[in-house]
Formats: sequence, C-alpha cells, structure tokens
Amino acid sequence: SKAKRYGKENKVSTKFTDVAGHEEAKRELIEVVDFLKNPAKYHQIGAEIPKGVLLVGPPGTGKTLMARAVSGEADVPFFSVSASEFMEMFVGVGASRVRTLFEDARKSAPAIIFIDEIDSIGRKRGAGIGGGHDEREQTLNQILSEMDGFEKNASVIVLAATNRPDVLDSALLRPGRFDRQVTIDLPNLKEREAILKVHMRNKPLTSGVDVQEIAKSTPYFSGADLKNVVNEAALEAARIAKTQIDMSDFYRALDKITLGLENSSLTIS
Ligand code: ATP
Repeated sequence: SKAKRYGKENKVSTKFTDVAGHEEAKRELIEVVDFLKNPAKYHQIGAEIPKGVLLVGPPGTGKTLMARAVSGEADVPFFSVSASEFMEMFVGVGASRVRTLFEDARKSAPAIIFIDEIDSIGRKRGAGIGGGHDEREQTLNQILSEMDGFEKNASVIVLAATNRPDVLDSALLRPGRFDRQVTIDLPNLKEREAILKVHMRNKPLTSGVDVQEIAKSTPYFSGADLKNVVNEAALEAARIAKTQIDMSDFYRALDKITLGLENSSLTIS
C-alpha cells in the first residue's frame, strides 16, 4: 500500500499545562514555539531556525505528549508518524512516504513533524547483520535530504523521539539536522505527584486520597504508568459501584499493577 502513513491534525488542543514536570524541557521547547509563532523576528536578524530537535527518554515519559504540546502552544498543524510504520518490504516505499509527508508539511508551514521511534530507521548505517538494509537506509537518507532541502525560511520543525540516542547514525545529529537534544526522563517524586494530579483532574475523589503517598509508592513509574494507576483505581471503584474513588481503590490498583509487573518479569527470566 502506497497510501500515506502519517497523521495530520490541523489544530491540537494539548498545552504545556497538560504535561506535568519536565520543566527544563519545557523551557527549551518554548524557544521552538517562539520560532514557529514569530519566524520573522529570527529571519530579519539573519538567525537560522533549528530544523530538528531530538526528544530523548525512556518509554511512556511523555515525548509524544510534549511534541503535541509544542504544536498546541504554537497553534500550528501537527504531522505525526511512527518511523517503524514507514518502512515496507519494498525498497523505496518509505522514502516516497517521507517525500509526501514533508511536501504536505511545507504546504502547511509553519508546522511540526513528529517522528516517533526515530531509532528504528536512524540506526548507524551499515551496522546491521549482513550489511545494509536498503529500505531503511533509503528512508533515512530521504529524511536527511528533506531536512537539508528546507528553504531558509521554511518554518517546519521536525521533532523526533527516541530512547536509544546512542544507536543513532551520526549523520542525523549533524548541525542543521537533529542538532538539539531535549531530555524527557522518568519523573522524580514531585513530578510523579504532579502527573497523578493531571490525571485526577476530572475524576471524583474522596478527600482522603493522599496523592503524595501514591507518588511515594510508585518509584520508577513513567507518566504512562501513573496514568494507568489512576485509571485502574477508577475501574476498581466503578466495579463495586462507588461514585467516588478512595484510597483503598488506589491500593488495590497498585497491588494489581505491581503483581502484573512481577508476573511479567517472571515470564522473562
Ligand atoms: P513512548 O516512548 O512509549 O512512545 P512517550 O514518551 O511518547 O512514550 P506518551 O505516549 O507521550 O509517552 O505518554 C503516554 C501517556 O502517558 C500520555 O498520553 C499521557 O497521558 C501520560 N503521560 C506521560 N507523561 C506524562 C506527563 N509528564 N504528564 C502528564 N501525563 C503524562
């Protein structure tokens, strides 16, 4: 299928306030928002706007959420693609999809292109077992040449997410490509509390719910894991027909999730 394999949203409602924690990352990305909102300010003084920013961090920490927030804050269209979905069995399909994607984004500029799991196509070239992988290399080369080909005033910024920056081909990281990195790490205690609060926002809770206590019980949980904790607690409460979520629901949710984690590590080892 040659059909386009990317998403396009003209208007994104996600804002930085929907992303809890990651304050340093937000500070860096506010700049990107400004590039997109006021390109003339940079052009008139002869400054070139960055073309690519790498969002680096473990799974579920909010890289996609953050990219959407940049688009929402700048009020520009959001083009998104998962790198692994771009590639096909047939050589050339990925590259042709990349061309269509960038063409579409340029027409809609200012715009954001978000490439998730960039490492799946951005690995060091020629490093695979048995040498090259033509489809992957061509797809990667097409991304690089599209970025090189941006006109000076293109106002399309490519955000790409990875949890393996170490495996990326150095060609991707050169000046004028993904030359900026923003870290999106696992949340600390205070950040976990903030993330829990974001996901509790529209849920009926009893006054006994101790967010700090839940945050303390969830070390190494990602934002996605914490969202799941809140949802599991809501399910527990609904299951026994309660109209509010209380602390016992959270304890049961945590037990269930921790047990799930233990079971999954048992099957791995
Ligand atoms: P992956 O690398 O697995 O694609 P990701 O880093 O892109 O993960 P997201 O898909 O953005 O993570 O996160 C999944 C969901 O978890 C988000 O939609 C959001 O609901 C929640 N979440 C993650 N991090 C945060 C955060 N910092 N604040 C609020 N919600 C968060």
